[in-house]
Amino acid sequence: MLFSELPLANPLQRAIRAVGYEHPTPIQEKSILSLLEKKDLLGIAQTGTGKTAAFALPILQLLLESGKVRAPKTCRALILLPTRELAIQVEDCFRQYAQFTAISTACIFGGVNDASQKRNLIRGVDVLVATPGRLLDLIGQKAVSLKALEFFVLDEADRMLDMGFIHDIRKVVALLPQNRQNLFFSATMPEDITKLAATILRPNPVRVEVAPQSTPIERIRQELYRIDKRRKGALLKELLLEHTEMKKVLVFSRTKHGADKITRVLEKAGVKCAAIHGNKSQNRRQEALGNFKSEKIRVLVATDIAARGIDVDDVSHVFNYDLPDVPETFVHRIGRTARAGKDGIAISFCSPDEEQDLRAIEKLTRVKIPEGDKAVYEKLPPPQKETPESEMRNARGRMSRNDAEKRASKSREKRPRDVQPRDNQPRDAQPREPREGEKPAEGLPHKHRRRNRPGSRARRRMREAASN
Ligand code: AMP
Repeated sequence: MLFSELPLANPLQRAIRAVGYEHPTPIQEKSILSLLEKKDLLGIAQTGTGKTAAFALPILQLLLESGKVRAPKTCRALILLPTRELAIQVEDCFRQYAQFTAISTACIFGGVNDASQKRNLIRGVDVLVATPGRLLDLIGQKAVSLKALEFFVLDEADRMLDMGFIHDIRKVVALLPQNRQNLFFSATMPEDITKLAATILRPNPVRVEVAPQSTPIERIRQELYRIDKRRKGALLKELLLEHTEMKKVLVFSRTKHGADKITRVLEKAGVKCAAIHGNKSQNRRQEALGNFKSEKIRVLVATDIAARGIDVDDVSHVFNYDLPDVPETFVHRIGRTARAGKDGIAISFCSPDEEQDLRAIEKLTRVKIPEGDKAVYEKLPPPQKETPESEMRNARGRMSRNDAEKRASKSREKRPRDVQPRDNQPRDAQPREPREGEKPAEGLPHKHRRRNRPGSRARRRMREAASN
């Protein structure tokens, strides 16, 4: 099928040609016609499948057809996304596709001053792309109302729930008018997501599923390095220095502090790199992303939340510097490479206390990750001697693993030997730095506390951990 065969208005066809699309991707082929018939849609798809155009093009077409005019401080289509990077990216797509029309777009997200966002909403917009917190904030300030909404898109629903946005989503949904077209996208459909979808979509939505989880994984060559936590930095450095074909490398770190530490190690070794995470300003994050896209830097170090959904073509290698304790996150991470039909390589580091995470990942993906070239271990400097500080850091790691263990399965009786029960923590030991988006345990200094919503998976886990 060609785009030119789809019943899309001339200005949209022109924009499609301008961005260089010829053939719709499978999700576009399966969705666009149904959406043009004003049906609700449940899309099970990851980023990289072309899902943004799959919903943006029909929404733009219907907005053009309806002939309605936007009222001040309202929007006609709302796209809800979990992160600012994603929101910016999706608004960018809308802008490109709407470039030959009079349709207006705006993007609102937290972490920046809201003055210009409010200004953009004064006259109303056709398409509003938003993250949930800032949207509710601006609704509360009466800067925007959803009463005239015609289209509601919830994108990356599984990630929204992981990040604890469920209550915000419910609040937004409660504000939507009854008569609207709904689109719901998620990369995975566990039970809680299915339930959420049922509260948003009208009965019998069109269900479109593309690229099931196993498909990208099969295209990704994987390697595993079993390595002590303290030697991960040296291993990453060695692999990057040895393999010049690693040109566009995304490194995942579990924590913001970890991401900064990795960039320091790499910078010292002369590797051009930058980090993106929640503590970086929006401008710094955009700058880092831009430099990575244009290959001014070779390595982008990111936390899961910051990297979520970022659209970078041709990522040659993904490193799991730390393994995630949610196995689905691993699938999301390595799906950053091998996009658009290309092959990719994912390299995972596993320290002894991450073995359990590794087993969960291998179980989910049904792939046994082969070990990488063992000769590289010989080239690494011996591990540094433990200092009181590093002992403390490692103790934190073990304690966190212990907590994760408890959270994952209360029924499991035996603890790994090297894991200290929480009660035996050294008196001055502090819990580890919280993962991005995770609420720290009670008693953490205020700077570590993050907004988190009751009922979120992350919060539930933390509550359980705290009560243990
Ligand atoms: P998405 O899954 O929406 O994040 O899209 C992933 C990438 O695919 C983006 O860079 C889009 O510009 C690109 N893309 C989307 N649809 C098409 C298409 N039909 N042909 C070529 N590239 C596309």
